[in-house]
Amino acid sequence: MSQVHTARIWRYLYWECVASIEAMGQLPVKVLTRLRAETTLDELPIALETDSNDGFTRKYLLSLSDANRIETVLMRFTGRVTACISSQVGCAMGCVFCATGQMGYTRHLTAGEIVAQAVHVQRVLRAQGQRLRNVVLMGMGEPLHNYDAVMKAVDILTDGNGLSLGAEHITLSTVGVVPGILRMAQEKKSVRLAVSLHAATQAGRAALVPAARKWPLDELMAACRTYSEITGRRIFYEWTLIEGKNDTEQDARDVGNILRGLPAQVNLIPLNPTTGYVGAPTRNDAARRFQKILTDEFSIPSTVRQRRGIDIAAGCGQLAITVK
Ligand code: SF4
Repeated sequence: MSQVHTARIWRYLYWECVASIEAMGQLPVKVLTRLRAETTLDELPIALETDSNDGFTRKYLLSLSDANRIETVLMRFTGRVTACISSQVGCAMGCVFCATGQMGYTRHLTAGEIVAQAVHVQRVLRAQGQRLRNVVLMGMGEPLHNYDAVMKAVDILTDGNGLSLGAEHITLSTVGVVPGILRMAQEKKSVRLAVSLHAATQAGRAALVPAARKWPLDELMAACRTYSEITGRRIFYEWTLIEGKNDTEQDARDVGNILRGLPAQVNLIPLNPTTGYVGAPTRNDAARRFQKILTDEFSIPSTVRQRRGIDIAAGCGQLAITVK
């Protein structure tokens, strides 16, 4: 295939965001015939879409060619437009409070299916004269359990002929898959890394995140330290705040202690309730108290994330599990 035709195809895919090979009308017939014969375009038709009441979040349930469905979310917070995309159908990690974890694992997504979610959001934004700038791999699935496809997708998303996203505008969130974190460090991947901590003791963490039995807290923190030493990068530590479970002043001091000396930011996220887990989100005053301890006693920067989109089940997996 000539360079001219290749460049035109990339433009159709990532600039015009066409949804089918048939829409690539300016290509010669022989090129179109070859594309139809040798490739597939992951169109991901919309099975369902919903808006949150506050208008900041739009959630899509997208269909895959094998009839499985995944979730993709378009978020508009504080002037930033972000796509939250999935890396797997379901998830094997089984975090007790997570709707996707409650579904179990079905399969990995291909790199094409991961990229197609970002292209879907870009298509929506393009129609509104906007452009996608941020992607978070925080949808359904554990990205480091599907390492090769996820990193191939990242390469396409950051390619100047692709969506041309800055790697620093892509955040990969892991529950703590130690081999994947170390591999990211060795390969010097430049996407931002977020690690879901949720508890600062091995027993507390294993009760919320079964994957902690395979990769215990001390191994995880050693991997995080290695990652930051090799890459020089800060890690974002995610902490789902569950009332009475992990939101006490002692919990705040415990997390402050294990992050001492590490380049870190803590993102505190009040729980998104799911039908499969009995637990309530921490109240705002307790979240602020937690945050104040991290700031005053440990000088660790932190945010308390707003619980937007609760009315459209915006926590990962919540739409897929409620719509069968
Ligand atoms: S929180 Fe993430 S890693 Fe845990 S079960 Fe849900 S999707 Fe999987």
